Amino acid sequence: MAVAVPFEEKTDEQKAITEMVRQFVDEQVLPNAEHYDNEDAFPDPIVDQMKELGLFGVTIPEEYGGMGLDLTTYVMIVEELSRGWISVSGIINTHFIGSYLLMKFGTDEQKQKYLPRMATGEIRAAFSLSEPELGSDVQAIKTTAKKGDDGLYEINGQKMWVTNGLRSGLVFVLVKTDPDAEPRHKGFTCFITEKEPGVAENTGAYAGLNVPPQIKKLGYKGVESTELVYDGYRCPAENVLGGEAAGLHQGFAQMMDALEVGRANVAARGVGIAQRALELALRYSQERKTFGKAIAQHQAIQFKLADMATQVEAARLLTIRAARLKDAGVRSDMEAGMAKLFASEAGRFCVEESFRIHGGYGYSKEYEIERLYRDAPLLLIGEGTSEIQRMVIGKKLLQRYKA
Ligand SMILES: Cc1cc2nc3c(=O)[nH]c(=O)nc-3n(C[C@H](O)[C@H](O)[C@H](O)COP(=O)(O)OP(=O)(O)OC[C@H]3O[C@@H](n4cnc5c(N)ncnc54)[C@H](O)[C@@H]3O)c2cc1C
Repeated sequence: MAVAVPFEEKTDEQKAITEMVRQFVDEQVLPNAEHYDNEDAFPDPIVDQMKELGLFGVTIPEEYGGMGLDLTTYVMIVEELSRGWISVSGIINTHFIGSYLLMKFGTDEQKQKYLPRMATGEIRAAFSLSEPELGSDVQAIKTTAKKGDDGLYEINGQKMWVTNGLRSGLVFVLVKTDPDAEPRHKGFTCFITEKEPGVAENTGAYAGLNVPPQIKKLGYKGVESTELVYDGYRCPAENVLGGEAAGLHQGFAQMMDALEVGRANVAARGVGIAQRALELALRYSQERKTFGKAIAQHQAIQFKLADMATQVEAARLLTIRAARLKDAGVRSDMEAGMAKLFASEAGRFCVEESFRIHGGYGYSKEYEIERLYRDAPLLLIGEGTSEIQRMVIGKKLLQRYKA
């Protein structure tokens, strides 16, 4: 006779860490997010506590001072953080992608040099593909790196939409190193460019890397999005990701690999914001009365709650599945694309439904849903728009199921 095995969604370790993060979010993030959002101010005290909790080193191996946890646990943590405020998850998001790139492709020297300080959050990483004239079409990158007689690479060009562009100390930047490469994607290299955190005009060894004032945005406040201007920035050959011999012209494949985990990460942010929108709707709909009863007692409102809860669950399952496949070493670009597509759209859907349930008050800054309404659309864009996810999924489907 088969013995029933109790179904556990999380291991004991995952339960412990996500409960810890939830408590931190309930006590420190949710009560303060409105203030930082209003001021568009970087949440230094929150980030200091995130450092103390070890959240900058969740996936970094223990030998480098991190927690050594897997992607599945990481996305569970990101869901919790995003339930509080997607900007705080944005602060660790590009950092996580940078540490992934180092762990997967970095030389031993690069790992030793950066990972221990990244694990503590002493230095933080940004990740830069986009330029003023391109986002989806990564292979149209114009920024170049050319090796000089002194052995240094000179980088010239302009980058756009760099999350953590000002406060980061490292930028993993994709540039063109072989303009004649055929196919085009073989002509790109990822450089680990160092800079002074918080400094707009770098000098000395980092001269030639400047950070214009941050871009003013609809939402996703607090965390900075900037341009980066590389103007004769000189980068040692040892800062080619993976080393010059192995890493030159490998940047496109490296960055696309990192986008796979980045997409699972954005999916988790979609789950977090959708979960919070549902919680706010559940609370408000039981407090607000119309026609003599709580609006939650009207069937039309219950249907909205039902649709939202179903979307949250489905988005969470897709996200966890994409992360588990990646942890198991299985190619999961299609699943990561599905998770990102579904969860970011679920985030937008749930936020809008919750906003409607709040009636006029949803439009007021007095209610949290107003912030979520401005924050949610970002998830439809970052790490590839919904159209780009559909392109990835469609292409993979046709590869897997050839007629
Ligand atoms: C707040 C914020 C933070 C960001 N952070 C970063 C970061 O840290 N690092 C980084 O590198 N980038 C970052 N980005 C950039 C982001 O990745 C791009 O904005 C995104 O990839 C879309 O590119 P785009 O804005 O150039 O739009 P475009 O590529 O110009 O697309 C415009 C529209 O056309 C659609 N489209 C494009 N091509 C096709 C096609 N072939 N078929 C059908 N539709 C298509 C798109 O889906 C979109 O709707 C950030 C963006 C924002 C808003």
